[in-house]
Amino acid sequence: MENVIILGTGCAGFTAGIYTARANLRPLILEGKQPGGQLTTTSEVENFPGFPDGVDGFSLMDQLRKQATKFGARVEHAFVDRVDFSGEKKLLFAGDKKFEASAVIIATGAAPRLLGIPGEQEMYGGKGVTTCATCDGAFYRNMEVVVVGGGDSACEEALFLTRFCSKVTLIHRRDELRASRIMAERTIAHKKIEVVWDSAVQEVLPDEDGMARAITVKNLKTEEVTEICCKGVFIAIGHVPNTAPFKEILELDENGYLVPDSNSMVKTSIEGVYVAGDCADHVFRQAITAAGMGCQAAIEAERWLSEGM
Ligand code: NAP
Repeated sequence: MENVIILGTGCAGFTAGIYTARANLRPLILEGKQPGGQLTTTSEVENFPGFPDGVDGFSLMDQLRKQATKFGARVEHAFVDRVDFSGEKKLLFAGDKKFEASAVIIATGAAPRLLGIPGEQEMYGGKGVTTCATCDGAFYRNMEVVVVGGGDSACEEALFLTRFCSKVTLIHRRDELRASRIMAERTIAHKKIEVVWDSAVQEVLPDEDGMARAITVKNLKTEEVTEICCKGVFIAIGHVPNTAPFKEILELDENGYLVPDSNSMVKTSIEGVYVAGDCADHVFRQAITAAGMGCQAAIEAERWLSEGM
């Protein structure tokens, strides 16, 4: 039986790996469908402390992996699809493989919801289509961009982008924003933001270098299709946390995010089971906050294990 199994190889998972490995727990980190997590889809990370010249997301995750394995963490590819936390031994199943652990740190992340339109995948991550203004906004200085969505995230992204971009067009499928009133009012009133209502993005169009140059948008009331020139397409239509195996085992909120115990950011209702990163955080969703939660979860797991040893 393992001391601790960590699910996920994003910032939260590897940070938990570094801390539990340095605590001599020989953690096993299980890598799922997106090795390295969401940062591997970002070209350059400029806001992770310690990298004044920026670092590309892939290299950063590679460094975290090296740091964790250097101290004795083991990484194995296994997509956990079922768990049983009812006994003292926590059981995890990946197809027909079975793992057993005293403690489990769930750091399975979240996947941004995408539109599923032509051009989106081809230009995603470095070619103009992105899901993170905080990560990529600064690359679009003095350029025209669009944001897709009508919730708080879309408004937040649009407002953030006004710091860099010459114009931000917010495209929403209905005639009112879902966002909180204050965010909606701020967004609509901003002189750099134009809102295109009742409209759905149909396609992202590339330039000759394969970078985004425009989108086509259909007005859902008039059916008129227009083209909007933009170098950046920021999709903010929500995230889908990777929490399916924990349904009915741990508390999830109405959007599927794991809900930590009320007096801790990382403990759950089951002793020895901890959460970290975007699978349990729909508010901050930053690499550094995920790393922070990974550290907290590791320290809690170590304390709990040492009490029982
Ligand atoms: P959200 O509230 O679920 O909003 C998603 C938006 O995307 C909605 O406007 C929705 O349109 C639109 N959408 C969904 N699927 C779409 C599709 N296929 N095509 C086009 N549009 C689509 O998600 P969120 O904005 O990420 O917020 C998630 C939670 O975090 C919310 O509770 C939010 O309040 C919170 N949050 C808070 C803050 C803050 O307080 N500063 C910041 C960010 C997020 P419809 O409106 O038509 O459904």
